[in-house]
Amino acid sequence: MENITGRNFAVSGLVLAWIAFSRQAERREIENICRRFEHSTVLSSGGWRKIISEQKRKLRLTDNVFIGFEHQEGPINAEIVQTSGEDHYVLLTGSVEHPINVEVLLAHELAHAALRHTRGSWLSSDLAALIFGVAYILTANVILAILAAVLTESLLITPLRQQEEFEADRKAAEIAGPQKVIDTLELLKRTEKPLPVMETLFSSHPPIDQRIKRIHDYFSTAIS
Ligand SMILES: [Zn+2]
Repeated sequence: MENITGRNFAVSGLVLAWIAFSRQAERREIENICRRFEHSTVLSSGGWRKIISEQKRKLRLTDNVFIGFEHQEGPINAEIVQTSGEDHYVLLTGSVEHPINVEVLLAHELAHAALRHTRGSWLSSDLAALIFGVAYILTANVILAILAAVLTESLLITPLRQQEEFEADRKAAEIAGPQKVIDTLELLKRTEKPLPVMETLFSSHPPIDQRIKRIHDYFSTAIS
């Protein structure tokens, strides 16, 4: 193992620290947008808060959930992060001109929180970064290290994340109704641009058709 040098450790450490720092900064940014929105008088979040407390009750979720909205061109999308302890932040982005069932989007995101997907999110890309670091320490070869990280991401993390999406869809369908979730996914399908083939390999979200089919299969008796 003559390749293991202090330099390898230093390079790996720097890369890992930079990734950890930027992920943390991303989470804080979402937290800040949500905190500003909580106090904003421009757009009333009252209606959304009501939906959230109702859904939290149905999901038996006792954690704090804050909501934020940021205007962007395109359809409304949502993501959830957990910054610390019991605080979750749901950020909706997009344009309010696009019709979307916000109730379903929120149900899906809160389902992630109730299913504890947000708590295990370090498993996601951070694991690939860690694999990169270890592979680089062992081989001092950037190409090999990147390859190891890419394989980890596509073979292990992507399927895991996609499984979580199916679970969140199912839970959302339980509390918002399967037909509403299917209608929302159909709408997303019509408005979303298809991903390039390479990106689909690493997308945390399974193809929308598969998500619709899973809900159909699971709730077939309730829908028909
Ligand atoms: Zn999701």
